[in-house]
Amino acid sequence: MQVHKYDVVIIGAGGAGMRAAIEAGQRVRTAVLTKLYPTRSHTGAAQGGMCAALANVEEDNWEWHTFDTIKGGDYLVDQDSAEVMAKEAIEAVLDLEKMGLPFNRTPEGRIDQRRFGGHTRDHGKAPVRRSCYAADRTGHMILQTLYQNCVKHNVEFYNEYYVLDLVMVEDEDGVRRPAGVVSYDLATGDVHVFQAKSIIFASGGCGKIFKTTSNAHTLTGDGMAIALRNGIPLEDMEFVQFHPTGLAGLGILVSEAARGEGGILRNSDGERFMERYAPTIKDLAPRDIVARSMANEVREGRGCGPNKDYVLLDLTHLEPSHIDEKLPDITEFARTYLGVEPYTEPVPVFPTAHYAMGGIPTNIKAEVHANSEDIIPGLYAAGEVACVSVHGSNRLGTNSLLDINVFGKRAGMYAAEYAASADFLPVSDDAADETLALLNQIRNGEGTEKVGQLRKELQDVMDADMQVFRTEETIHNAVDKIVELEERYKSIQIQDKGKRFNLDLLEAVELGFLLELAKVMSVAALHRKESRGGHFREDYPDRDDANFMKHSMVYRDETTEMEGIKGLRFDTKPVTFTRYEPMERKY
Ligand SMILES: Cc1cc2nc3c(=O)[nH]c(=O)nc-3n(C[C@H](O)[C@H](O)[C@H](O)COP(=O)(O)OP(=O)(O)OC[C@H]3O[C@@H](n4cnc5c(N)ncnc54)[C@H](O)[C@@H]3O)c2cc1C
Repeated sequence: MQVHKYDVVIIGAGGAGMRAAIEAGQRVRTAVLTKLYPTRSHTGAAQGGMCAALANVEEDNWEWHTFDTIKGGDYLVDQDSAEVMAKEAIEAVLDLEKMGLPFNRTPEGRIDQRRFGGHTRDHGKAPVRRSCYAADRTGHMILQTLYQNCVKHNVEFYNEYYVLDLVMVEDEDGVRRPAGVVSYDLATGDVHVFQAKSIIFASGGCGKIFKTTSNAHTLTGDGMAIALRNGIPLEDMEFVQFHPTGLAGLGILVSEAARGEGGILRNSDGERFMERYAPTIKDLAPRDIVARSMANEVREGRGCGPNKDYVLLDLTHLEPSHIDEKLPDITEFARTYLGVEPYTEPVPVFPTAHYAMGGIPTNIKAEVHANSEDIIPGLYAAGEVACVSVHGSNRLGTNSLLDINVFGKRAGMYAAEYAASADFLPVSDDAADETLALLNQIRNGEGTEKVGQLRKELQDVMDADMQVFRTEETIHNAVDKIVELEERYKSIQIQDKGKRFNLDLLEAVELGFLLELAKVMSVAALHRKESRGGHFREDYPDRDDANFMKHSMVYRDETTEMEGIKGLRFDTKPVTFTRYEPMERKY
């Protein structure tokens, strides 16, 4: 076992991890551990844009942005976080511009801005142009820009190092604090321990719990599951965003920018059905509303295609030159994967699992919560892995690229500040034992179950029972299946027993993470007997502020059992209000 020592260790080299690294790396010794090469992180797949009330093309201000974020999140948003994000958005965009990001420009040379769902002028009066973008490859540009700046600041990367555990110890005052992480080097199969004063989780989302998803194969929620296994609760995990426009049957994303640039959703009658569901902002309503409306059209028999199981995204009224300039990649996806020509034919689309609103609970300094009140000194999280609760129960488009930049920067600054005055905590010789035991157990497993098969069954049941519509019955069905799969997981056998580049082994570990998170998600969904944002219970179709205006917190706890589910404990955390009272959510 090799041991390394850094002031700050960052888990993940996506937008959040690298934005944090730029801050921490300029202040203290910083290492970034990442299971992918940095520029392959999912941030690079982001298409549509990153919002900030720059008011470059239309009147706008950060307070309207705050309001839209809170209303868009169906009032489960922590309002202090939303204010920080909307206020610091402007600087976040300008930071990137100074680092060299090639944003699209207006004829006068300012950063151009376009429309996105739920972003409005003057508290919902009309859509506003708030999203800064670089064609439909904004995330790619952000990731490349951040990577170049990390290189410039000599940030040390450990590429293809999979973090598999966190080392938590009690300090002299009896406070549980992080002392380091345990990681697995894909190339050699060796286990390395990284001792650190501050640790930042920036390991991204968990979309692979579902079959139909816009997420990359690697988004298996590792950071969330590792936190849970180390006694840290997960917040608001029942809230998953289903993005309205995945390519039908595939889930590959067609950015909301398509509707921001004028695209229209139509049913089998050719009707622009969003006029019925959101008369004011129509196709640019928040994603939860659009996704449910689409699913409803299909249910009521107005779906398109041979099986009437999707709706159409119509771009045919846009000039081909406009499409080529603003939406080149996503229209190419439609051609490549569905054989559809967006200049002349509407594109078949259906909701796809896209974003985890929940995650590791944090506050505005990106500090991780140990429970509803206390923080864990030295532990930070930012980006999709975290739940600083700026997105509440539904995230607005372009608010995630913003979140990773604002809270990534904050995490890097506060983690470095903490490390500058803290001491290293001791890491004992057996710190990696649990990880080694887990890896050996999988490697030596001689059962008959296959990882790919179990993952498929998990994804199938989550698509069927935990998607846009949920009921007590469907959620219980999902839970029963997950419990069955957990049992079968104990008898998996992998084919590759070798040491080097053993992805077979790591996919088995990742499946363990997915199963654990799917269970947390389902348990939280069972508890929330109301409908809010991305969580829609057909048996409780209304929002119920009296009973459920609070965050869910799920803990791993072997001693408890609830609703027939063993090993998890449920609790809540209050929502932070500053000045926006919950209102009815009409668009
Ligand atoms: C197709 C698509 C389009 C999108 N478009 C937009 C958009 O236009 N606007 C917007 O605001 N949002 C968009 N989003 C959402 C947004 O891109 C993501 O939420 C955001 O980029 C997540 O950034 P992150 O840094 O948290 O995680 P990621 O970019 O996913 O990075 C995660 C990092 O963690 C590392 N990692 C994970 N597990 C481990 C482990 N066990 N050990 C070590 N390293 C690990 C990975 O290697 C990776 O470097 C889009 C998402 C998708 C999927």
